[in-house]
Amino acid sequence: MPFSFLPEKNNILSFCVRVRSYLRNICVFTSMLQVTHKSCQVELTSGYHKKSPVKRRLNRVRRSRIGNIAGVICILLCSVIGAEAQEFTTSYAVVQYDNIKQLQRLNNNLFLSREMSFELRKREIITVQNEIAAKVDIIIEKAQKVSAMRPPNFHFTIRLFSSAKDAQTALFKRYNKKVKYISFYSRRDNLLYLSVRDADLHVVAHEFGHVVVEHYFNRAPPVQMHEVMAQYVETHITD
Ligand SMILES: [Zn+2]
Repeated sequence: MPFSFLPEKNNILSFCVRVRSYLRNICVFTSMLQVTHKSCQVELTSGYHKKSPVKRRLNRVRRSRIGNIAGVICILLCSVIGAEAQEFTTSYAVVQYDNIKQLQRLNNNLFLSREMSFELRKREIITVQNEIAAKVDIIIEKAQKVSAMRPPNFHFTIRLFSSAKDAQTALFKRYNKKVKYISFYSRRDNLLYLSVRDADLHVVAHEFGHVVVEHYFNRAPPVQMHEVMAQYVETHITD
């Protein structure tokens, strides 16, 4: 049996037909793939367009809900933080404040007399709170000394405000009364409203005079006498 590497003529023709058929099939398959790919693109794109408004609305709703919840949480936190005043105590008072700037402003405005400054140097002072606490105690002790009134074991609260306007707003909220005071001692609440912008030694001494008078008498004197005695303390605080 002869051995040949080449196919016979008929076989060659048959081979070529098969190859051509095979190539055609490949082309058809490729074109089908392309069509399928295009149709997928179109379907996805159209589907995206159909679904997108709904998706967008849903996303908007979700985003707005998340935004609303976040907003409410922020407002709650801010209101809680804003409402919560910080405080420190002295021998006679609790000092309430909103921020450290208020303390710095008060401390800068509160110049003591030479005698009181000498007393201040004896105190251990590290922070601005320490210094204000020491000044408050020194002034209140001097107010007792000049008025010769030393009520036992009295305490009161000092609420600091950045400005007189803030203090007046707080006063209006509490008493529904419009005033133009830069400071005010509430006998009812045993609370001193103090604008740090306006608080100097004489203003503070005057209000401390009211505090001393209020705690000294079993029955509080009339408002006019209260005022006279507070003015006396104010006048003589630097004696
Ligand atoms: Zn007064």
